[in-house]
Amino acid sequence: MIQLQGVSKQYTSGRGTVTALQKIDLTVNKGEIFGIIGHSGAGKSTLIRTINLLEKPTGGTVIIDGVEMTKLSSRRLQEERRSIGMIFQHFHLLSSSTVADNIAFPLRLSKRPEAEIKQRVQELVGLVGLSGHEHKYPSQLSGGQKQRVGIARALATNPKVLLCDEATSALDPQTTNSILSLLLDINRKLQITIVLITHEMHVIRTICDRVAVIDGGHIVEMGPVTDVFLKP
Ligand code: ADP
Ligand code: ADP
Repeated sequence: MIQLQGVSKQYTSGRGTVTALQKIDLTVNKGEIFGIIGHSGAGKSTLIRTINLLEKPTGGTVIIDGVEMTKLSSRRLQEERRSIGMIFQHFHLLSSSTVADNIAFPLRLSKRPEAEIKQRVQELVGLVGLSGHEHKYPSQLSGGQKQRVGIARALATNPKVLLCDEATSALDPQTTNSILSLLLDINRKLQITIVLITHEMHVIRTICDRVAVIDGGHIVEMGPVTDVFLKP
């Protein structure tokens, strides 16, 4: 479903050049939950953002479901990005929009008819367990509820891939577990491929099938979670 081939990323600014990723090769299979773990500054955030080209690699190829993302025009890239949902550590909700309008946002961007949007929002609210909260504003929700809105919005356009950027790092342990079981539930129900980055081993152990350990912009280990973390 996701293939990264020789993906490199360098950031250049007035202060010089930082190499964030060095020739990363990575394949994520359809339906898999794939975790990327590493210390702060290891390159996790850059790596997950190259998958939907929020960060343009300086070298290498990104292929999603057979489409070579790295050679698309910006218009085609915008279309293809609809097949990749993303959720964030700090949720990135629109504070002056209701739960329903936050979830509807990507559907309105893609100009779906209002009747269809209404129905889709109802389905999504049910899927993430927020029925009855449609008319609330983000400030009236707990952190876990805000992330549920983020998940519903990310799923609105029926993506094939869900990218999770430290999605539970701002949540307490109990809320973290409820969000992780929601992600597992969605993975099973919708057959969606999930890639997540985290600095927490617990997250990897709880829901991931395979894991890559990243350090200094390199993948230093990769394999099934039980092989990578249960070695003597
Ligand atoms: P992580 O998510 O593992 O903390 P990042 O991908 O954010 O790591 O960062 C990897 C390296 O790239 C770090 O050295 C970081 O300072 C640098 N970096 C990240 N984003 C930028 C940027 N926009 N400009 C310059 N350097 C950056
Ligand atoms: P978060 O972990 O919440 O995503 P970060 O502090 O890692 O937040 O990064 C926030 C933003 O700053 C990102 O867009 C990232 O690319 C950018 N960034 C990270 N490190 C650097 C850096 N060394 N120089 C410039 N921008 C950076």
